[in-house]
Amino acid sequence: MKYFFLLFFLSTNLAAKISIITTTPDLAWMAKEIGQDLIKVESLLYGTEDPHYIDVVPSFIAKVSKADIVCAVGFDLEVGWLPRVLARSGKAHLQPGGKGYCELGRAVTALGKVEGKIDRSMGDVHAGGNPHFTLSPSAFLQGATEIVSALKRVDAKNAEAYETQFEVVKEKLLSLEGELREKIKQQAPQLVFMEYHRDFLYFNETYKVNSIGALEEIPGVLPSAAQLARRSIEAREAGVKILMAGLGAPENQLKRFQELSQVPFIKAPLILETSGSFSDYVYLQRFLVDKLIEYANK
Ligand SMILES: [Zn+2]
Repeated sequence: MKYFFLLFFLSTNLAAKISIITTTPDLAWMAKEIGQDLIKVESLLYGTEDPHYIDVVPSFIAKVSKADIVCAVGFDLEVGWLPRVLARSGKAHLQPGGKGYCELGRAVTALGKVEGKIDRSMGDVHAGGNPHFTLSPSAFLQGATEIVSALKRVDAKNAEAYETQFEVVKEKLLSLEGELREKIKQQAPQLVFMEYHRDFLYFNETYKVNSIGALEEIPGVLPSAAQLARRSIEAREAGVKILMAGLGAPENQLKRFQELSQVPFIKAPLILETSGSFSDYVYLQRFLVDKLIEYANK
């Protein structure tokens, strides 16, 4: 008899978990920190893709249609694909404005807003702000308040637990951020680096590091031979020590830039991965800062 009750308890307990689907693995990491055992979470992307350009596959729609909450980065990062997934899920609560829709960018102080008219020739620009805020712990925490709000809307009885767990992750990330900022200040005060894409705008602001900007001239468009040559000269003149790129950045262009400029490059999963060391946000932060310091001192 007691086994029956145990099984009953286990099954109701499992069924009660709030199901969250996120677009990227970094959001899934944050949702898990906040939701702990009260939720189950899965990311649609593995982290090896370029999140700007995603083909909608049927499994996305199947996963989303079973979710209580869907979390997106926002600032139009997923504009090319997520709206179609949400529409096809047929779930009213997951549409923008719905109880289970959560968009972190809405709570983030935007950097890199584009003033004036935007047209297609400008490439993949995000008028409302740069969407790559999750690389800054404090900006990521701002956005994560949207996850807390969504969890409280959907699962009000556990509101206090979500608030408490958010305070824990907040303390952890702010102390990490402080430690890493100090480390850069001490060990690489003159650091100058460069990005393939403008992935580090919020990171640079947070850690007070200098980047001369992107190797891309137009976001999402392969840099031309002329652009590679021009940026190589600029990188050398500015004393750039390293070029940081996401996993989706094109190998040929990076190699050509390295030949021309003698500046090495590193590729890293800037939105985390779903498994391995790079599935941990703290690991990725330490990795990026340590690499920048290592190359600054070469
Ligand atoms: Zn981008």
